[in-house]
Amino acid sequence: MIAKKQHPLVESFVDRLEAGGHRVTGARWAVARAVARQRGHFAADALAQELPGVGRATVFRNIKLMVEMGFVCRVLLGDGRLRYQISHRGHHHHLICSDCGRSEDLLGCDLDSILQDRAADHDFAMEGHWLEVYGRCRACRPQEAAA
Ligand SMILES: [Zn+2]
Ligand SMILES: [Zn+2]
Ligand SMILES: [Zn+2]
Repeated sequence: MIAKKQHPLVESFVDRLEAGGHRVTGARWAVARAVARQRGHFAADALAQELPGVGRATVFRNIKLMVEMGFVCRVLLGDGRLRYQISHRGHHHHLICSDCGRSEDLLGCDLDSILQDRAADHDFAMEGHWLEVYGRCRACRPQEAAA
């Protein structure tokens, strides 16, 4: 039986699965619990390795489902590697430190109207955008001289 007390992410995912008519299998629970345990971003392969009892394809499929449902974000590192991390909010971007690799959520995006205008110049009906911001976090920057 499934333990009653679950991480809120796991509970919400299971609620959404049930509401959407998806089967809540043991593998789905296991993937959701493993995702909820992650701190920062993670690789799908590493997650699959944490779950030897769940097939790799099942792990990948459920991560994809969690992305589609908005529980997990894709994070593209500066070197092109794709990672995932728990998403707590709606539309946002990530500030990714090139030194320590930490990713922080960047809220308050107002790029949509700018991009809509540019896309319209190409007679292109924009449906969305995805953007990562690379740089250095405070801890990884040399101390700046006080102004
Ligand atoms: Zn995110
Ligand atoms: Zn850093
Ligand atoms: Zn945006």
